[in-house]
Amino acid sequence: MPPYVEARGLFKIYQVADLEVVALQGLDLTIEAGELVAIVGASGSGKTTLLNILGGLDVPSAGRIVVGEYDLTRLSEHALVRYRREQVGFIWQQPARNLLPYLSVTQNIELPMLLAGLSPAERRRRCAALLTAVGLAGKATARPDELSGGEQQRVATAVALALDPPLLLADEPTGELDTETAAEVLVLFRHLCRSRGVTVVIVTHDLAVTAVADRVIRIRDGRVSSEAVRGDREEFVVIDRLGRLQLPATLRDQYGLVGRARVAAAGDHVGIWPAPQE
Ligand code: ADP
Ligand code: MG
Repeated sequence: MPPYVEARGLFKIYQVADLEVVALQGLDLTIEAGELVAIVGASGSGKTTLLNILGGLDVPSAGRIVVGEYDLTRLSEHALVRYRREQVGFIWQQPARNLLPYLSVTQNIELPMLLAGLSPAERRRRCAALLTAVGLAGKATARPDELSGGEQQRVATAVALALDPPLLLADEPTGELDTETAAEVLVLFRHLCRSRGVTVVIVTHDLAVTAVADRVIRIRDGRVSSEAVRGDREEFVVIDRLGRLQLPATLRDQYGLVGRARVAAAGDHVGIWPAPQE
């Protein structure tokens, strides 16, 4: 079975005035179906760009990305819109971007179903199941501003799952929540991921996510630099299929590993040390 998400050599270049910003620099990424993956990295490292490409909101400048049976680089604009609507649920950092303030919780959750043409009976059935799944059965008639931030993100999660997409993408979903509430939302993601088989990708600064993620992938300068798999204590450097790796900045600085370096086998490992600079 091929992986659910396969990204190979993704580049994204933004043109700003007469300047080019390279947001992704040959990024490789593989995600299995049903995995809960956290993407972490400094601000500006390319996390949102990657998420937007995964969600079909943006297309890469080069490289290949396949999600399920969709080769996103080959879809027409029209097919990409359908992909977005049917295959992906989004949750944004700002609760306000996820929910319509003048609609009730139920109306918010049913809106995507209404637009997709589901019958009233089917909408009610799905909405009730989603409200239970996100633990808000008692808040069906509330308006978003009557809910806490955590509750709003739970409703947002229900909205994102309204049409049962196989992929859930969340960009800093806990960014505006306190630690405890953030942890609750993350546990909810984990539960949904397991109970509904949804593949979840969370972009986050929140290190609490490491407690729920199957894999934490660190992005630096538009490439995957390291990852930690659930259960491992260690974070591993990732070497891509071209043999490239990003040294942890601390080692680079400590050993002065910039420019020319020597690489050699040293028994069961490989050593890297600075070459005399000219
Ligand atoms: P992150 O989400 O990790 O903070 P982003 O993916 O938003 O990073 O941005 C990566 C880089 O691309 C940054 O340098 C950012 O300024 C630039 N960038 C992102 N989106 C745009 C855009 N629409 N136009 C121009 N530059 C952009
Ligand atoms: Mg971002």
